[in-house]
Amino acid sequence: MASISLKKLNKSYGALTVVHDIDLEIADKEFIILVGPSGCGKSTTLRMIAGLEEISGGELIIGGDLVNDVPSKDRDIAMVFQNYALYPHMTVYKNMAFGLQLRKASREVIDRKVQEAAKILDITHLLNRKPKALSGGQRQRVALGRAMVRNPEVFLLDEPLSNLDAKLRGTMRAEITKLHKRLNSTFIYVTHDQIEAMTMADRIVVMADGHIQQVDTPQNLYDRPINMFVAGFIGAPQ
Ligand code: ADP
Ligand code: MG
Repeated sequence: MASISLKKLNKSYGALTVVHDIDLEIADKEFIILVGPSGCGKSTTLRMIAGLEEISGGELIIGGDLVNDVPSKDRDIAMVFQNYALYPHMTVYKNMAFGLQLRKASREVIDRKVQEAAKILDITHLLNRKPKALSGGQRQRVALGRAMVRNPEVFLLDEPLSNLDAKLRGTMRAEITKLHKRLNSTFIYVTHDQIEAMTMADRIVVMADGHIQQVDTPQNLYDRPINMFVAGFIGAPQ
C-alpha cells in the first residue's frame, strides 16, 4: 500500500521558505500531477517525497509510516527525471539492470524483469545500444524502464517529457498513462504543461509560490477554479 500523506510539509533554505505547510492526501495507485509556474516548489516537494531533500517541517507518511528520516535508498520509490540521467558507458540493458544488481537480485530475476519492461516499452531492439545511440524519446523510455524494473510502490516523475518534441510528447503521454494502469504503483508527476495535467491526472494539485492553490479532478478544476490564478493556469474561460 502506498498511500501518501503530506502534513504541513515545509522546506526552507536558510530564511527562504520555498514550500509552505503543504497538506495533501494521495490515495494508493492514484495518478497525481503537480502543476504550477517555474520556481513554485514542485521539484522540491517531489524531492522531499523521494528522500533527496531534507524536510524542514511537517510530516511525510508513506503507507502508514512516518518516513521523514528514512534514507532515500530505503524508500520504495523510483524517480524519473527530465534529463534521463542514464549511465553513458553502459548499454541500455545494463542501465536497466543496474539498480537490481545493487539490490543483489539474481541474474535470472534481473533478466526477466529487464526483458519484461523492455517489451512493454518497445525497446527490446535497443537493449545492446549505448545511450548516445538513442533518440530523446528512446532515452526517456529507457529511463522509465530503469524505474519500472524495480516495481516501486511510488513512481515520481519530474517533467519527464519536457525535452521531447510536441509529437513525441503526445505519444509518451499515452504510454505513461498506459504504464500507470498496468503497474500497481502510485504516480506523482510534475509538469508545467496544462495538457499533460488535464489529460493524464486523476487529480491535479495547482501550486503557486510554495503554496497549494487547489486540488481536484481535471474536470472540477476546469469547471470550478477557486481563483483567477487557477482559472488562468488550467485554461478555463475567464
Ligand atoms: P519548480 O520545480 O516548481 O520549478 P523548485 O522546487 O525547483 O521549483 O524550486 C522552488 C524554489 O526553491 C525556487 O525559488 C528555487 O530557486 C528554490 N531552490 C531550489 N533549490 C534550492 C537550493 N538548493 N537553495 C536555495 N534555493 C533553492
Ligand atoms: Mg522543477
